Amino acid sequence: MDIRSVTPTLCRLMGIEPPSVCTAPVLEAVLEAAPSRVDRVLVYAADAIGRVFLDNHPDLKKRLVAASDVQVELRSMMPPKTPVCFASMFTGAAPEVHGIRKYERPVLSCDTLFDALARARKKTAIVAVRDCSVDIIFRNRPIDYFTEEDDAAVVKRTLSLLSDDRHDFMVSYNQEYDDTLHRTRHDGPEALAAAGRHVETFVRLRQETEEHWARYNRALLFTPDHGAHCDAAKGKSDHGEDIPEDMDVLHFWRFGAAAPTDSTERTRRARDESAASAHPFSLS
Ligand SMILES: [Zn+2]
Repeated sequence: MDIRSVTPTLCRLMGIEPPSVCTAPVLEAVLEAAPSRVDRVLVYAADAIGRVFLDNHPDLKKRLVAASDVQVELRSMMPPKTPVCFASMFTGAAPEVHGIRKYERPVLSCDTLFDALARARKKTAIVAVRDCSVDIIFRNRPIDYFTEEDDAAVVKRTLSLLSDDRHDFMVSYNQEYDDTLHRTRHDGPEALAAAGRHVETFVRLRQETEEHWARYNRALLFTPDHGAHCDAAKGKSDHGEDIPEDMDVLHFWRFGAAAPTDSTERTRRARDESAASAHPFSLS
């Protein structure tokens, strides 16, 4: 299984038709852990946090496991470059189908998850840092685009959109770990601190979705696009090769069930009371 399966799995959960180019299978392990239907989704996409990196940093992995219900190990796309991977993750299609086969960032012309959501009348938001792939390749669609200056602003915007509750589906993209690993090393202290911030953001988003989306069946995802490895000759890290460090990712899914609202709770109580008064052995 690979990261393309994110799209058909989300479509199944939201009860919508997948995009026309999607051929990837659903993630059965995710569906087993999920409520029958999901009405609100937040995808938190932290760039370049790979499975091997998390295995080497069990404290971070433990935080993600504790904040989620199900973990799935997936392969990335070849080559494991950001626009190639997110194009596949949000179309369910291979690079030769969606057309981004190397590091290039055209606006996708094929059908995407976001088009499928729009056809189903779902309101979508993408929150990302200016000039990043996620902010560029899904343009020209009925999506609310929020282009921010840095990760902190992306998180701040995401929190305010959660509390506004105007969107059914949101993608929130962070890139500090990826930026740092290209400058230094993916396992150095700076990158480690950045990865720690991404993990803590996921934990925070779990709390916030529970508060602001309490009345919906909901899903929160942690979905990196690829991993990274250190290039010993350069003393810096990179990604783009067919090796486990670059190609293996772990995705984390958290589900929440809708809490009864005041009005549904009143309806239930009224029904229970009338059922009690209609009981043949009732004294009243
Ligand atoms: Zn990336």
